[in-house]
Amino acid sequence: MEDESRALLFIRGTALRLAKRSAHFKAVVVTFYTCPYIIVPVRTEYREEPCKAALNRVTGMGFRWSLNPYMGCEHQCTFCYVRAFERRADRPWGERYGQSIRVKVNVAEVLRRELGRPSWKRELVAIGAATDPYQPAEGRYRLTRQCLEVLAAARNPFSLITRGPMIVRDIDVLQQAARRAEVNVTFSIPTLDVEVWRKTEIGTAPPRQRLRAVRMLVDAGIKAGIGLAPILPGISDRPEQLAEVVRAARDAGATTVWCNLLYLKPGTREHFLDSLAREWPALLPRYQRLYAKPYLDQRVSEPIKQQVAALREELGIADRREARLEPAPEPEQLGLAI
Ligand code: SF4
Repeated sequence: MEDESRALLFIRGTALRLAKRSAHFKAVVVTFYTCPYIIVPVRTEYREEPCKAALNRVTGMGFRWSLNPYMGCEHQCTFCYVRAFERRADRPWGERYGQSIRVKVNVAEVLRRELGRPSWKRELVAIGAATDPYQPAEGRYRLTRQCLEVLAAARNPFSLITRGPMIVRDIDVLQQAARRAEVNVTFSIPTLDVEVWRKTEIGTAPPRQRLRAVRMLVDAGIKAGIGLAPILPGISDRPEQLAEVVRAARDAGATTVWCNLLYLKPGTREHFLDSLAREWPALLPRYQRLYAKPYLDQRVSEPIKQQVAALREELGIADRREARLEPAPEPEQLGLAI
């Protein structure tokens, strides 16, 4: 299986390199869906559409503001929770999700204005909550990089979540930002199982490349952790699979490890179950039972979370950066002596 995956990656990489050299590459990018025996090229359209607002107000999450330089995601993970939002918004959410990407070409400029408002209190901004900021479009448009530069200049704290090792290109800006405000990067690495990765995270870089990126960020003094998200019951939740990821996270120097179990809201549910029926048909009845509601019963999810927590403890996952880039403490306001 490993040999087959490597062969497919080689073919996909070669085909992508050839596509990049073609005269049409400026207008469209060609991505490839792989299945064991065929490669189907699919054109990705980039729609360059300016935005009116860069920051989105968020409720019910651990942060109040989010930022997404792109809408839609070329990574096209089968379990992507964003499909549910897209379906509610009446946008493509099934097979066509991720084939047309909105590129907010003026996002950095708008962000600069928003952070400059007197009412802005330098609250945490979460980047990548609804689309991957380091998906392939970023290689061409560099909007995430521009936004990081704006956040760094404004000394604004941010967190960023990605599956894209392209982030290492921006280590210089991340370092600059981390010296001025709280910066946290999380890599989603649900599994190191090559077969599971290939069947579920269709357009992403191999998970071991993400681990190498974690190591590079941590060595550069930036806080970088790993989220096993999402863990798929019966597919990527075996104890040895979980241990492999947490051990690799420790070896890469990850500052934190957390996990999340798959949830399936309408939109994501249909798409994921279709792909499950193709790739793991024997598991379909089990998933239909487990996901009669969007979230797993805690009796199923809690033991898995506890396993990850125990591994984190046992393997000593902690902030072990040799050089820590952190903002200088805010100057104390001295009271007037009377
Ligand atoms: S990388 Fe994230 S946003 Fe992109 S398709 Fe996968 S889960 Fe969705």
